[in-house]
Parts: sequence; structure tokens; C-alpha cells
Amino acid sequence: MSAIATNLQAVQTRISTAARAAGRPPESIALLAVSKTWPLASVIDAATAGQRAFGENYVQEGVDKASATVDRNLDWHFIGPLQSNKTRPVAEHFAWVHSIDRLKIAERLSAQRPADLPPLQVCVQVNVSGEASKSGCHPDEALALCQAVAALPRLTLRGLMAIPEPADDEAGQRAPFRQLREIFETIRAAGLPLDTLSMGMSHDLEAAIAEGATIVRIGTAIFGERNYA
Ligand SMILES: *Cc1c(COP(=O)(O)O)cnc(C)c1O
Repeated sequence: MSAIATNLQAVQTRISTAARAAGRPPESIALLAVSKTWPLASVIDAATAGQRAFGENYVQEGVDKASATVDRNLDWHFIGPLQSNKTRPVAEHFAWVHSIDRLKIAERLSAQRPADLPPLQVCVQVNVSGEASKSGCHPDEALALCQAVAALPRLTLRGLMAIPEPADDEAGQRAPFRQLREIFETIRAAGLPLDTLSMGMSHDLEAAIAEGATIVRIGTAIFGERNYA
């Protein structure tokens, strides 16, 4: 078995253990393999081991990998910051976008989604307390942004995403995930049928699953430490 296949199995075990501890079915949590900075060979290795969903942060890198794997029936998720002049290739090559943080980006993705593809599945990114990045809408704007995104014809609004600041203790990890889940529940109570909470990375997937994550986005624990040089 390849190192990546072994790591994938270890991550699946962490997911099932955390799911059982939370009293949730392990199948209610999907694993998104974050392959940014890793070569196509690493994606193929993971796909050969059965992994279907891959996440990328950079438009050109993601488009290149998605184009090179069209015959493998993989789902490509765009999870990085998105500038409005880069929306077209994302609308054309990805199945999901997790990082919608303003209406203009969503409008462009909807207008540019090719007619022969299913609607683009999207999450609104929320800047919860202790957010590491500056991206994501303010929690107070999340409901209005979700309502506007849900009205766009070529997008299907699925849920919310967040990237909290790393914390080493479980309580510190859980607090921002709980905040995202509470915003998610408020938006559902307002009538939008959200089913996706995209939260949890290599170091905090257990805390995210305890707070209701339905997609965990895992890079390092599958592919190893990234080298940006
Ligand atoms: C890089 C990245 C991940 C994966 O992080 P790891 O700590 O390597 O698991 C998840 N989500 C987003 C948005 C990322 O940019």
C-alpha cells in the first residue's frame, strides 16, 4: 500500500472514531482530500486508493489537475480565496466552491456556469471568531448573503464553511466550530435547506466532527507537510 493510501485509511479511522464519540453515523461525514501544492501523481495515488473528492486553493493548479483527471470521475472543490477575474475557470471545472464570501463572486459563478453541467454546489464562508484568514463574510451578514446566493439560478447553496485559527486545546478548537453551527441552524430556521458544514482540517477534525461537520478538508494528514518553496 502507498503512504498516501495508508494515510487515507488512518484519516478515515479518525473520522469514524470521532463520529462514534459524537453519536453520529460515520457516513454522515465526507472526506475532502486537499491536494494543493501536491503533484498530479499524488492525486492519482489517492484516487487509486478510492478517494473521490479533492480540494484545491489556487485556480490554475486546480484547473490543471481537474482537466488531467476528467476520465476518473473525481469531484473537484475550490476552497481558496477567489478573485472576481478568476471565476470563469472555476465555474467551468469545479463541482463545488466552499469560499463564497460576497455576492458579486456568486453572481459571476452563476452567470458563468456552463449550461451542460449541473448547478455549482456552493458554501458561504463565514469569518467566525478567531479566523486565521481575512476571508469570509461577517457572521451578521451570513443570512442575507445566503438568501441572495440561494436565489441564483445556476448555484445550489449547500451550507457554510470556516477556517478558524489553530488552537491546541479541544475547547478552543470547538468554540468557533460551534459558532458556525449556530449560524447554520439560524439560517436553516429561516427556511434555507442547508445540509453542509465544511469545517475541520488535519489538526482539528475531531473537534469539528463533535460540532457537526459534514465535510472535513484534510491535506497534511493525507499527503504530508506542504512545501511552498
Ligand atoms: C490547506 C487547506 C486545508 C487543509 O489543511 P491541512 O491542515 O493540511 O489539513 C483545508 N482547508 C483549506 C481552506 C485550506 O486552505
